[in-house]
Amino acid sequence: PTGIALLRDPSLNKGSAFTLEEREALGLTGLLPPRVHTLDEQVQRILENLRKQSTDIERYVYLIALQDRNKTLFYRVLLDNIEELMPIVYTPTVGQACLQFGHIFRRPRGIYITARDKGRVAELLGNWPFNDIKVIVVTDGERILGLGDLGADGMGIPVGKLALYSVCAGIHPSLSLPVTLDMGTDNARLLNDPLYIGLQHPRIRGELYDEMLEEFILAVQQVFPGCMIQFEDFANRNAFRLLQQYRDQVCCFNDDIQGTAAVTVAGIFSALRITGGDLKEQRFLFLGAGEAGLGAGELLVSALVDAGLSLDEARRCCWYVDSKGLIVKSRTDLSGHKLLYAHDHPPIADFHTAVETLKPQAIIGVSGQPKRFTPEILETMARINERPIVFSLSNPTSKSECTAEEAYTWTEGRAIFASGSPFDPVVIKGRKLYPSQGNNVYIFPGVGMGVMASGAVRVTDEMFLVAAKVVAGEVSDADLEYGRVYPPLPRIREVSLAVAVAVAEVAYREGLAAKPKPDDLAEYIRGLMFEPEYQTYI
Ligand code: NAP
Ligand code: MN
Repeated sequence: PTGIALLRDPSLNKGSAFTLEEREALGLTGLLPPRVHTLDEQVQRILENLRKQSTDIERYVYLIALQDRNKTLFYRVLLDNIEELMPIVYTPTVGQACLQFGHIFRRPRGIYITARDKGRVAELLGNWPFNDIKVIVVTDGERILGLGDLGADGMGIPVGKLALYSVCAGIHPSLSLPVTLDMGTDNARLLNDPLYIGLQHPRIRGELYDEMLEEFILAVQQVFPGCMIQFEDFANRNAFRLLQQYRDQVCCFNDDIQGTAAVTVAGIFSALRITGGDLKEQRFLFLGAGEAGLGAGELLVSALVDAGLSLDEARRCCWYVDSKGLIVKSRTDLSGHKLLYAHDHPPIADFHTAVETLKPQAIIGVSGQPKRFTPEILETMARINERPIVFSLSNPTSKSECTAEEAYTWTEGRAIFASGSPFDPVVIKGRKLYPSQGNNVYIFPGVGMGVMASGAVRVTDEMFLVAAKVVAGEVSDADLEYGRVYPPLPRIREVSLAVAVAVAEVAYREGLAAKPKPDDLAEYIRGLMFEPEYQTYI
């Protein structure tokens, strides 16, 4: 494109950064303000405007508008200011954006598929303007963060996650596609909201749902062969079942189960460097036995078996409290993966008693329920442990089991604390403590890059365990001093590169790679990474 069409193409647009020669050659003369600016000057202008906004949701809208206008600039701003902007494009602000998605909606992004489209899903995917798609993040919007069923308004999540693939691992934005399967919603507020963007019917269940899913998976294989599919924010009832059904058939994973697991296990590995504890001697007590909790248990068990325990012994290190109390053998209401962790133990109704009785070294909150790590529970943890491990992973911030301040206050600053949504540093007794964010962003972008680089045909649990080890290995002793169990976000590109290399190595070792192995894998992957910089057009 040239002229005004070029300015309106967000992948190519450089705005005021078009040089005079380019303006002349491309029919842009007169269409832009006379002064030519550099990318860095444009970044400065964006930051100035962003910081002037009075709320985070306004910042979100502003950033999305920038993404619509000029992708290079959008990614440059994010990459250079990741600590400041991650909470805007991802949890917690993205949660708020999804809660009012139909109201802040400006321009469509990604593909929406409904049951009306049955029989022609491949055709819809074919309407996407890019045909070399390597990563799809798909949701049906039924469990958006810990906010529940947001229907098609959940599209903010795949959009945000894919932005992070580009920022953190350098997967070129044109290689990814966000998808929402609008299977209806049971959210009464949305069913009655005239500005809701999805179809206003109750959720489709049963056969038709499964047929739509199957058609979608097959259409992706047909239209974008080799593309990796990330299942995101599906409700528990579908998440495990879909993963089970498709993980050995196509290149896919579920980030809420497997990505969360890897980031949790990475945090545990780091925390043990602080406590000096042996992995095999830990007792982990989870609040919540859903996708995140059971996924983490599964990966912890793999790590424990690696460390020398039998499968049974490994499972006995992991204990769960769900909405009905401690998961024990005598319960008759358990099914699926919960049964693997139903140990021989008298029933316990509440979490505090479970902590008193089991004396865990770590409590991990993945219940989606706020404030469940009460001062009493935190004090008990601090009584039992010199350095209690407290992960309150529920998102967004409003659902966190406790805040960083609470965790430190009630443990005399001794807690090793990580949360799903970010918290600011806290000063306790004159010491500044840095809470960690157990953000899946340390894992999935690197995994995606490793899969893409090697042409892996499956995504395996081993890849996630390796990713967890790499992330933990990237945490320096200085980070640990400050209480950080994850690497600082500004190092995310290096971390993602290391994860990608390790994941690709697994693909090659396991015979899952469809691409020949380059001589220098790290150099090769580094070369694939997208740098948000302007290209010269003439
Ligand atoms: P899920 O599959 O729906 O599981 C929720 C679990 O919490 C269920 O086991 C449920 O019990 C339990 N629960 C609910 N209320 C409870 C209560 N009052 N006391 C004890 N347990 C209770 O959800 P999920 O996918 O695991 O996600 C849970 C939370 O984790 C969400 O807030 C999500 O945002 C967060 N998460 C964080 C990260 C991260 O930080 N990296 C990643 C993924 C998810 P029943 O089984 O009895 O129903
Ligand atoms: Mn999620």
